[in-house]
Amino acid sequence: VPELPEVEIVRRDLGRLYLGARLERLSISGIRTVRRHAPELLSRLEGQILVDVGRHGKYLLLRWGDGEVLVMHLRMSGQLLAAEAGAPSMVHTHAVFSFETAGELHFVDPRTFGELFVAGGAAEEGPRTARDGACPSNGALARPAELAHLGPDALEATPAHLAVTLAGRRAPVKSLLVDQRVVAGIGNIYADEICSDARVRPDRAGGSLGRSEVGRLAAATRSVLDAAIVARGSTLGDQQYRDVLGETGLYQLQHKVYGRAGLPCGTCGRPIERARMGAKSAYFCPRCQR
Ligand SMILES: [Zn+2]
Repeated sequence: VPELPEVEIVRRDLGRLYLGARLERLSISGIRTVRRHAPELLSRLEGQILVDVGRHGKYLLLRWGDGEVLVMHLRMSGQLLAAEAGAPSMVHTHAVFSFETAGELHFVDPRTFGELFVAGGAAEEGPRTARDGACPSNGALARPAELAHLGPDALEATPAHLAVTLAGRRAPVKSLLVDQRVVAGIGNIYADEICSDARVRPDRAGGSLGRSEVGRLAAATRSVLDAAIVARGSTLGDQQYRDVLGETGLYQLQHKVYGRAGLPCGTCGRPIERARMGAKSAYFCPRCQR
């Protein structure tokens, strides 16, 4: 399941490959992929130039010449893959973007939880940050109303925000980190890795964390996500996650706890444990994490 680092890599790839290109045709074959509105609504993007690629949490925000924003979420198994013009579609391809000079972009999604929709009303332009041609700035877009329920992007969340949202909460730290209303972009893998880096047990009540622990959690959120972006994300054994050119990520080689139950902790040698948390589980080192 792609989380913030994987979606950020896709965002950068899309910017590099398609920014400034004109969309010639958009073919939708997956009705479930466009389930929020009539698929015909997407045809209004045809003829427009892709002018910005943003991201909020796990959502991609593609802004077009006339100000419309196409929102994409990969969910469980969605992939965005570059293809040559006229290339045959893989099985489970639900949308094909044909650009005038930049080839095609295929939305492939075996489990069909992923989705595309045009944001209602043109989003206003937010403050611009420095950008380079190869990698358009993130945060350049105001958030569409459909994403108003999300907390701040996990890379922008301040220690103060984390302190306020954890205060008094009985829910486990991990459950709060993966709650997109608290911070947007963290899922199962990175929540465990962040707790490991912060030396905090993922099953502790959010409200039980002291000030220095919250500070460590905020710092770990930043450093783990940044390191995962540098390593181009995590591709697990299911080989599900691919970047836009079909390449796998490498951050799975740096996982300290996720999926490592019974294996020795890299710091103290104790076996990593797996805690049950309702329907989910969390991996942690019982000695290094308190
Ligand atoms: Zn340890």
